[in-house]
Amino acid sequence: MIAEVIVDIALSETDKIFDYALTDELDVGRRVLVPFGNKQIEGFIIGLKDSTDYPDKIKNVIAPLDDFTAVTPEMIALMREFSESRHLRYIDMLRLCLPAGLRGGQIKPATAEYARLTGDADTFLDTISLRAKQQRAAVSYLKEHGEVRKPELTKAFGNSAVNALIDCGYIEISTVERRRTPKSADTKNLSRPTLNADQQHAVDEIISGKGTFLLHGVTGSGKTEVYMHCIEEMLSRGKSAIMLVPEISLTPQVFSLFRNRFGDRVAILHSGLSQGERFDEWRRLRNGEACVAVGARSAIFAPVENVGVIIIDEEHDGSYVSEGNPRYDTVDVAEFRAKYNDCPVILGSATPSIGSYYKAEQGEYKLLELPKRINNLLLPEMEIVNMSAELRLGNRDVFSAALKDALKNTVEKGEQAIIFLNRRGYASFIMCKDCGYIPKCRDCDISLTYHREDNQLKCHYCGRRYEMIERCPVCGSTNIRQGRIGTERVVAEVKKLLPEARILRMDNDTTNEKGAHQRILNEFSEGKADVLVGTQMIAKGHDFQNVTLVGILDADFSLYLSDYRSNERTFQLITQVAGRAGRAGKSGKVIIQTYTPRHYVFRYAAAYDYKNFYLKEKNTREVTKFPPFTNIVRILVTSLSDKKAMDTARGINDRIKDVIAKYKDDFVYYKGAKAPITRIQNKYRYQLLMRVKPVRYEEIKREIFKITDCYKGKALWVFTELDPQTLI
Ligand code: ADP
Ligand code: ZN
Ligand code: ZN
Repeated sequence: MIAEVIVDIALSETDKIFDYALTDELDVGRRVLVPFGNKQIEGFIIGLKDSTDYPDKIKNVIAPLDDFTAVTPEMIALMREFSESRHLRYIDMLRLCLPAGLRGGQIKPATAEYARLTGDADTFLDTISLRAKQQRAAVSYLKEHGEVRKPELTKAFGNSAVNALIDCGYIEISTVERRRTPKSADTKNLSRPTLNADQQHAVDEIISGKGTFLLHGVTGSGKTEVYMHCIEEMLSRGKSAIMLVPEISLTPQVFSLFRNRFGDRVAILHSGLSQGERFDEWRRLRNGEACVAVGARSAIFAPVENVGVIIIDEEHDGSYVSEGNPRYDTVDVAEFRAKYNDCPVILGSATPSIGSYYKAEQGEYKLLELPKRINNLLLPEMEIVNMSAELRLGNRDVFSAALKDALKNTVEKGEQAIIFLNRRGYASFIMCKDCGYIPKCRDCDISLTYHREDNQLKCHYCGRRYEMIERCPVCGSTNIRQGRIGTERVVAEVKKLLPEARILRMDNDTTNEKGAHQRILNEFSEGKADVLVGTQMIAKGHDFQNVTLVGILDADFSLYLSDYRSNERTFQLITQVAGRAGRAGKSGKVIIQTYTPRHYVFRYAAAYDYKNFYLKEKNTREVTKFPPFTNIVRILVTSLSDKKAMDTARGINDRIKDVIAKYKDDFVYYKGAKAPITRIQNKYRYQLLMRVKPVRYEEIKREIFKITDCYKGKALWVFTELDPQTLI
């Protein structure tokens, strides 16, 4: 038998199928050790065949690495498909299917040793010398307690006594696998509510259908309950399920919700677990002990078989697209798996991405709606405040008069407020008022953010820190101006306004330590603070019962990012942050501060009018020829050498021009230039940006890959990004 093997080396040069002879019978999907060059290397069997084209060069597979088949046939099929059509490397895809700890044998199943007597205690005692007191005591102890952990026994009676008893065959040791299980929040026995009519309709459609469903439900409309009912139904049919949420919403509360309903059948996969925990949770899914995989993006590769439903909650979230290597879109993988398993996919959101809603409109997805909150709770009232008018009235403060009043009121009543600003630090940049000098990072072409807490300037792209300057290094002036405010400054402003208020801040700077994120949320929900200030981290799915006020500062900011999605993102953020207020029946209020109050994003967001926002936005995209009416392709070229990056970009540019000539009606935009941020971590960045009509997109993509494949070299990185989430 010949095995087709992919070796576990992340190099394009070795990313092909190698033939090896098999002496033992091994399944497709087994991990094996193979000779490679003059080394032994781990690899994956991805196919079996009877003969090889290289019979005289063939070497033998050395040995299997595990006693189970690590990669399922489905994942091999996925790998083949995605390497072909999405241009991903075999090995990168295979690595996604395994817990990191399995490779290289770094993590083994955790085991525990148990000791027990092999026969009758009294018979043994008759033969043991009266002077061997410890041995006799150990035998008596086992007689009384039955099976005992070996470490417990050696601790009580000593190693030599226990070993002596093992040597004469009186004690036997058995090894049992011990599971490392991630913690979830305390399990209160939550009730299982009866679905309302809208929820029931959604569940009925999903469990009797297939394809992709878009579940559009306002915040608090009971989407999670729909997911759980669908999972329940699929489990009763003997199938498994995959449930994804954005990394940041993956809290112990979410785990306990699912554990409560499905018990040990739930396994959790996310980056916060220890390697051992991840390995064990993965093993439980792989061997069928668990059949509900709950996790962030990467859990889409959960090793479950016979999948009954795949759920992607908050489908609009940018984190579902992996921007690192390998680049993949979670929905794309989900749809492959759904087709393979003949099961439905649910994409859930209060604010679906324009692309998804467009597909629903076109009939590609089936639209299901939950238009009302559970128990008909009202959505919080939104007020738009025009900050230009505030300025005219002489208010130059961070907070508008309305927000100041509302903040005071809320805290006085003993209720809680959230203030949202999507920018961390104290000031987004600093500038010399006399000569215009702005401090920038040495390694990145980006201005530095002022952090007052440690009186430093920080680069938000590479993390490098610099001393704060008191005096302009160019002209010596001390006349230094601060740029746009960040969360640190907001905290200072709240303190000024309400000196007694207890304030928490949640952003990248306060959540560095493991568990800090959860600790801040817990403290806030336990009422240990009156005001929570934060970036978009606070926008996601937390249920705070006592929050009645949400302030959104500088809502314009995301509108001015040079990204065609900025309207959509602003709408999503406002809706989500607003959803934090008034959850428990208390009426909530949201104040949005903006300099462009008449912009349709704010008008429709304030009215919770997704549908009209969508129609308007779709129209804009159609006119300006942006997705979903075109596809964006960006080739990003980076290198430590500016010349190398530029020459490469030029070379690619020349060849892309040929493609454009061939498909000139399909290209609606093309430009080669420096990337918006010209340097990050000392790498120079160039981009070739294009927008392509959908009709012959597949063909064009292949032509582009053919070109970019030729440019691989030392200290040179060429990425072809398809519909990238960010264009920095
Ligand atoms: P969403 O995910 O749409 O924001 P959730 O699923 O979190 O909404 O539901 C909001 C709240 O309503 C939760 O506390 C949930 O337990 C509760 N809930 C959901 N469905 C029902 C129902 N049919 N009857 C009563 N309560 C429900
Ligand atoms: Zn100066
Ligand atoms: Zn930097």
